[in-house]
Amino acid sequence: MSTDIFAEALKRLDLAAEHSKAAPETVERLRHARRFLEVSLSIRMDDGSLRTFTGYRCQYDDTRGPAKGGIRYHPDVSAGEVRALAFWMTFKCAVAGLPYGGGKGGIIVDPRSLSRLELERLSRAYMRAIAPIVGPEQDVPAPDVYTNATIMAWMMDEYSLITGRRTPAVITGKPIALGGSLGRDDATGRGGFYQMLELARRRGWDAGKTTIAIQGFGNAGQHFAKLAEASGYRIVAASDSKGGIYNPEGFTVDALIDVKDRQGSVTKAVGKVISNAEILELDVDVLVPAALENQLTGANAANVKAKAVIELANGPTTADADAVLHQRGVTVVPDILANSGGVTVSYFEWCQNLAGWYWPVELVHERLRERMVAEFNTVADFAEQRKIPMRTAAYAHALDRLAEAHESMGTKEWFSAR
Ligand code: NAD
Repeated sequence: MSTDIFAEALKRLDLAAEHSKAAPETVERLRHARRFLEVSLSIRMDDGSLRTFTGYRCQYDDTRGPAKGGIRYHPDVSAGEVRALAFWMTFKCAVAGLPYGGGKGGIIVDPRSLSRLELERLSRAYMRAIAPIVGPEQDVPAPDVYTNATIMAWMMDEYSLITGRRTPAVITGKPIALGGSLGRDDATGRGGFYQMLELARRRGWDAGKTTIAIQGFGNAGQHFAKLAEASGYRIVAASDSKGGIYNPEGFTVDALIDVKDRQGSVTKAVGKVISNAEILELDVDVLVPAALENQLTGANAANVKAKAVIELANGPTTADADAVLHQRGVTVVPDILANSGGVTVSYFEWCQNLAGWYWPVELVHERLRERMVAEFNTVADFAEQRKIPMRTAAYAHALDRLAEAHESMGTKEWFSAR
């Protein structure tokens, strides 16, 4: 990601402010991260040498509740990226109606260059460094790029050792045996799927006649595909890092997953091999970007034939593309809404940890569905009333919720009144 990514994030704030009731002073406060911590982590490597890594944790805003957001391990992690991702989490948690603020963290490291023991030392060192500012009531991290349930378990264990109390609610995305939630694995795809069903209901689509292409056949994309197929939708194309496959008759999703698992790519399935650029321009009803950022751009947005784009990936559409897609009447369900199923079930995990009472998976699904249906329709209504893109509506709605919390503690008008 480029270094001006935070400046890009602030542009979304300015656009949202045009359609929000937020006071200018609330918008001003949201232009700045509330807290940003940089740490250096010196760990002993397996060969006895000492190596120092840089880590960050940003708590962008915690007015609506504890900061919430993942921890990324990647060589390209930067302060600007962490700050921008924490800003996005603030808006994602607000749009999903979760009682959380937004946070994010990361370490500049290529985790594949470390042994497992080095990775554990680094992860525990990171938790020791951020422990003074995180906790179930302050800031609740989670996995992100190249971090996983085992890493969350090490961090939870380290925090519990520091505080002398077993504290599962300090972090989410844990293994089930250590307080993880059932239903977290498919939550992102499932949340996006529930939203597609609402869109179909509003538009009067017939499932059997609705075709779907999925760019990025990983965790989010596969779960979305399975659920859509089970409801009668046709998955006609899918892709991964090696390319894509297209069959207008539709694929059997389990068979496609099997091909990917056994042969390393969906391109080995029976169908027409296509590129990752071509999949975006197929003549389908629904396009689901579920891989990377910046896939729909000013250069290809005019060629998108889908009626709707459901952004399971973070940031797949550039601002240029947004303008073109809106003008052409393509509905874009924006990432902060479309992929908010993941953080919603992370919230359920935290609730279960605090209560010490664990839910059956059916209850997780039902509560996720309720929330996704309600928030999707609120944003869709707002967009229709104002004739604005769903992305702008989602940010404005989130900003309204943030403003309500900020302004409940008084505004200029309130304080200057006699
Ligand atoms: P994943 O690693 O399981 O899957 C990613 C898939 O994308 C893989 O199949 C990979 O082969 C494919 N891919 C990589 N490069 C590609 C390219 N150039 N073109 C097409 N496909 C390519 O990841 P995931 O967890 O499914 O996450 C996918 C996206 O969803 C990311 O943007 C992530 O930030 C976002 N997201 C995921 C979650 C979650 O809970 N998993 C939550 C919120 C957002």
